[in-house]
Amino acid sequence: MPDGWHLGSEDIAMAIDFTLSTQQRDLQRASRKFAREVLGEARRAELLATPEERFRATRPTYEAMVAAGYLRKCIPSPAGGENSGLIDMAILAEEFYSVNASVTLTMLGTVLGLLPILLGGTPDQCRRLLVPFLRTSGAPLAGFCSSEPGGSANSSSPPPGEGVRTTARREGDNWVINGRKKWVSSATGWNRDGADVLCVVCRTDSAAPPSEAISIIAVEGPVKGLVFERAIDTIGHRGHLVPQFGLQNVTAPHRNLLGQEGKGLALTAAAFTGTAALVGIFGVALMRAAFEFALHFAQTERRGGVDPIIDHQAVGYALADAKTTIEAARYLSWRACHAVDTQSPGADELAIEAKIFGSEAAVRVITDLMRVVGVDSYDHEAPFARLLQDALALPIFDGGNMGVRRRQLHMMLRQGSYDPLAASGAA
Ligand SMILES: Cc1cc2nc3c(=O)[nH]c(=O)nc-3n(C[C@H](O)[C@H](O)[C@H](O)COP(=O)(O)OP(=O)(O)OC[C@H]3O[C@@H](n4cnc5c(N)ncnc54)[C@H](O)[C@@H]3O)c2cc1C
Repeated sequence: MPDGWHLGSEDIAMAIDFTLSTQQRDLQRASRKFAREVLGEARRAELLATPEERFRATRPTYEAMVAAGYLRKCIPSPAGGENSGLIDMAILAEEFYSVNASVTLTMLGTVLGLLPILLGGTPDQCRRLLVPFLRTSGAPLAGFCSSEPGGSANSSSPPPGEGVRTTARREGDNWVINGRKKWVSSATGWNRDGADVLCVVCRTDSAAPPSEAISIIAVEGPVKGLVFERAIDTIGHRGHLVPQFGLQNVTAPHRNLLGQEGKGLALTAAAFTGTAALVGIFGVALMRAAFEFALHFAQTERRGGVDPIIDHQAVGYALADAKTTIEAARYLSWRACHAVDTQSPGADELAIEAKIFGSEAAVRVITDLMRVVGVDSYDHEAPFARLLQDALALPIFDGGNMGVRRRQLHMMLRQGSYDPLAASGAA
């Protein structure tokens, strides 16, 4: 290209720039170091026999994350924390999740548990309910209680569908909550007496249509009336707790209703927009860890032949495809995070696309990289089993890609007013 074609940065009014700021680079470096020094070692907890033993064994690591201020870094500054946006969360999440998905999900599941408060709470509710989470001590947990036994993809279904089955009725100054929940990260707490805060999605009007019938109520722990049923023995995220439990006449003061009564479905959807963009990054994190191992293997192993296996074109091409997908997933997720932060048109669409793309790419790319490494990838000493087990959750949690996420996109596409260029900012 002739020299005259190269524009100096001062010549271009940059609207697209994926360069991280100095603060973001510092955050990336610090969280990478913390992940390597603290989170890696903690994976040993995943070898214990039962889900609760494994979860409890991660507690010192979680406490170290809190003490180092990482939970505070996930809570927005206006609410008293130190977070300045979803891109910062994505940077942190990629570093942590690539090393230890379980304990990272415990922290980010807690942030999800706080989202109805952060998005829908009054200043008084934020002040009261966020206190334990703003400290740099202890092991505070929060849970977003949406999923239920029997399915939650159709939580907005009108009758004769069941929708949300958990109910809350007014009794004097209190709500009385009854129902059952399943799969809620950390919900039953370290000792089965409930997380510090549970944001419970429940039906507050039996007659109204779903968009008016569902509310979110904050229950503070220890939770009287929480009936532990079981800790699910999951395929991946082996050190993370996802219990099934009942809520039997659990009470919460009326002032703990988050947002407007009856508008809980909209608040739930708002909470799950930000998390969708982050799940794309979870996929990046797992693919990146698999890629680093496979690349090193390919550069150093000859497998009895003359040349390192990376010199074989088939191996080189497979690595090239994997790396291309990782970069694409990362930038789509960052773009989605930025769109959510700036409330740009197309933010919802981009977040869902980042979730679907990053989550499904992770399962595929990790498997492809196992083929590059060959039989030694099947040894637990290599990271692939763990990474694939963790990756399998990505397409089916945070709203399954079939039951929830693609349906959300489908609904957007069906609207007559849908603008296909809005997500690219070119509408
Ligand atoms: C590690 C982990 C952590 C989790 N943490 C939480 C948490 O903190 N809080 C929480 O509430 N949940 C949590 N979950 C649950 C998770 O968010 C699920 O995504 C959610 O329960 C929805 O699952 P689903 O889409 O499979 O729905 P289901 O209702 O179980 O549907 C099952 C399947 O049926 C089909 N289906 C159902 N309805 C339709 C439809 N209308 N159209 C098309 N297909 C349909 C789809 O194929 C769908 O995948 C967690 C799960 C895991 C694995």
